[in-house]
Amino acid sequence: MAKSIIVIGAGMGGLASGIYGQMNGYDTCIFEMHNQPGGQCTAWKRKGYTFDGCIHHLLGCSPFSRIHELWSELGAMPREQVYTRECVSVVSPEGKMFNDYWDPDELESHLKELSPRDAEPIEDYIKGIRVFAREDFMGRAMYGGKVDMLKAAVKLLPTYKLLTPTMEKYAARFTDPFLRRAFPLLEYSQPVMPFMLHVAKHAYGYRRDIAWPVGGALEFSRSIAGRYEDLGGEIYYKSRVEKILTEGDRAVGVRLEDGSEHRADIVISNADGRKTILDMLGGRYIDDRVRKWCEEPEDETAFAVMVFLGVDRDLSREPSALVILLDKAVEIAGHAFDSLEIQTYGFDSTMAPEGKGVIKVEMPSSYGYWRDLHKDKDRYKEAKSKVAETVIDLLEDHFTGIRGQVEEVDVPTIMTWERYMGGTHGFNNMPNKKINIVSSLFGEWTSTLPGLSGFYLTGSWATQAGALPGNAGSGRDTIAAICKRDGKRFIPTP
Ligand SMILES: Cc1cc2nc3c(=O)[nH]c(=O)nc-3n(C[C@H](O)[C@H](O)[C@H](O)COP(=O)(O)OP(=O)(O)OC[C@H]3O[C@@H](n4cnc5c(N)ncnc54)[C@H](O)[C@@H]3O)c2cc1C
Repeated sequence: MAKSIIVIGAGMGGLASGIYGQMNGYDTCIFEMHNQPGGQCTAWKRKGYTFDGCIHHLLGCSPFSRIHELWSELGAMPREQVYTRECVSVVSPEGKMFNDYWDPDELESHLKELSPRDAEPIEDYIKGIRVFAREDFMGRAMYGGKVDMLKAAVKLLPTYKLLTPTMEKYAARFTDPFLRRAFPLLEYSQPVMPFMLHVAKHAYGYRRDIAWPVGGALEFSRSIAGRYEDLGGEIYYKSRVEKILTEGDRAVGVRLEDGSEHRADIVISNADGRKTILDMLGGRYIDDRVRKWCEEPEDETAFAVMVFLGVDRDLSREPSALVILLDKAVEIAGHAFDSLEIQTYGFDSTMAPEGKGVIKVEMPSSYGYWRDLHKDKDRYKEAKSKVAETVIDLLEDHFTGIRGQVEEVDVPTIMTWERYMGGTHGFNNMPNKKINIVSSLFGEWTSTLPGLSGFYLTGSWATQAGALPGNAGSGRDTIAAICKRDGKRFIPTP
């Protein structure tokens, strides 16, 4: 008889575990607390507008990368997708525009037009993109062994100058004041991001491996859930798992919020790790190392509030993503801003009624700020309206007349994610970060827990990755590990 597997959560890691489980002859089902699949890879509808809470850049959209193979196995590819011309654009208060075009030739001449004196940093940037574009480095990092990765790393040597600086350090090489201010913001407005990460991503965009899945994040997740169901898997929605049942230090099933118990040979959790380890398993399978992973992360500033606007305005000619530089700093949700990070979706006509558009503004602030406000519903609501009002005022300077065109406003915060997905730190559902770095370098992290058999973690807690392919790939790795333990050959096809 086929072994049975219960998966907690229909996020990327959970859905992928279910799919590869079905492909390998296991009898699987998924319990998901929300009423739809995808977890963080989500979107929602408001009066005909689609508000996408996830995708900026999706890797694996062409056969250039091995990630494409993963998406094909999961039923997410092939699909209708749109290519944007640029990664992001930055506009100054005077209207000067820098378009970070994916194509290196177009980008080089555009940058040299903006600042002929900065030929050296411009050429190094372009050279970096071309070197990274020769190889599928990210695919290798995900699927290759250590030797494979070492071979890839050697090929990066010509770009060694690019490997170390942050975005802001690299930007300091420009003499042009506009580029010095604009360049550090290219990687999601985070000047401290490694420059190498931006160059690597840019190379994937140039190879047309980054695209937008038409319909957005939820449609993307739905195609994966569809593959799972086609393979005979079952997803039970609105089914929050409260406890993982154990017998003799073996996971044997789960208890749901409604009190019902469900048994299986193996349990895989795609839910937040702290909740899984401390609550669902009562903290019984833990050692010092895992306890440290479960410590609350510092209250750092991260993307914590978004403003979505459904507007009666055609955005099809706007850049796909835009950073608006402000002429003076503004305080929003306890955080000082001198620029606004926005996404427009005019390239996908399914995101809004005909002739209309959606704008998303994403802003960092602290988790603690929103957690405390959330305790008082009126103050929380008031703070969200204030954020929306400030943002609309700021957008008016660039999109003249937009205030009168706003038809729908939604302001989700980091607490919204926590409510819908049961996490412990908004959507930052990852192990304590300081431990992450050490554990990833020394390969300490595993997806099992000390003293407990028949149990696996999958998704962000197993990968520490904040990206879709890594977390979907972890579901694949989990089933491959189970097959190995059962002495079976892992098969990644139906
Ligand atoms: C704002 C934002 C933007 C992003 N942009 C990008 C991007 O552009 N490109 C990219 O590649 N990645 C992006 N990501 C990252 C990507 O979305 C995540 O890394 C990935 O979706 C996480 O997958 P996961 O497997 O960890 O599962 P999660 O998405 O964390 O899903 C976990 C699932 O478990 C369920 N669950 C939790 N507790 C229980 C319980 N007790 N019982 C039952 N079910 C439970 C939840 O409801 C959820 O469905 C973004 C993320 C965010 C938040």
